[in-house]
Amino acid sequence: MIKENMSKILEELPEGVSLVGAAKTRTPQEILEAVEAGLEIVGENYVQEAERAFQVVGGKVKWHMIGHLQSNKAKKAVKVFDLIETVDSIKLARAIDRACGNIDKVMPILMEINSGEESQKAGVMPEDAISLARDMSELDNIKLMGLMTMGPFAGDPEDSRPYFQKTKKLFEEIKEMGLPGVEMKYLSMGMSNSYKVALEEGANVVRIGTKLFGERESV
Ligand SMILES: *Cc1c(COP(=O)(O)O)cnc(C)c1O
Repeated sequence: MIKENMSKILEELPEGVSLVGAAKTRTPQEILEAVEAGLEIVGENYVQEAERAFQVVGGKVKWHMIGHLQSNKAKKAVKVFDLIETVDSIKLARAIDRACGNIDKVMPILMEINSGEESQKAGVMPEDAISLARDMSELDNIKLMGLMTMGPFAGDPEDSRPYFQKTKKLFEEIKEMGLPGVEMKYLSMGMSNSYKVALEEGANVVRIGTKLFGERESV
């Protein structure tokens, strides 16, 4: 099933769009199956799950952190991940920077935007994004490469559109600032139900779980 899902998704994605397979709750074997069907980037929500899957799948794919990362997990995270999509505070950015300094690594990161401005959700508020980008650009061991957003959960993907537009606008604003060491390249928006709308609004990274691996068992 994963194989069929994968070819269907790949057929639909335009040239130049990266697919992140959102792998939460999936077994390493399921991830491996997706990789064998052509998946090149695995997205994990927890450091520990990534470490476990890495044991099986290994370095033939790229690993993205797509879940909320606590500063005290930065040291482990920088070892396993190739890109962290969810950096939303200067505290976390500094923790990643420090951990990377210790192992001579420069970590590509995305800034997560709380585009729905929901108090209980992760991500930086849109009005604080510009100054956070400026602060991030001063850290030598991280490299800001774009933005990521979830948006409020919506039944109708059309309801996500304004949040994707808001994030795209911020993306362009930060890009135009031309900050040293910042290379605004990736805009990660859209999940199984909303990625088509996200693509219309300029996403070039989509994070897909259900449509690739099947329905998650509720826990
Ligand atoms: C689970 C998850 C996704 C994918 O969700 P689906 O609806 O299963 O496609 C995308 N991004 C993040 C951050 C996730 O946690």
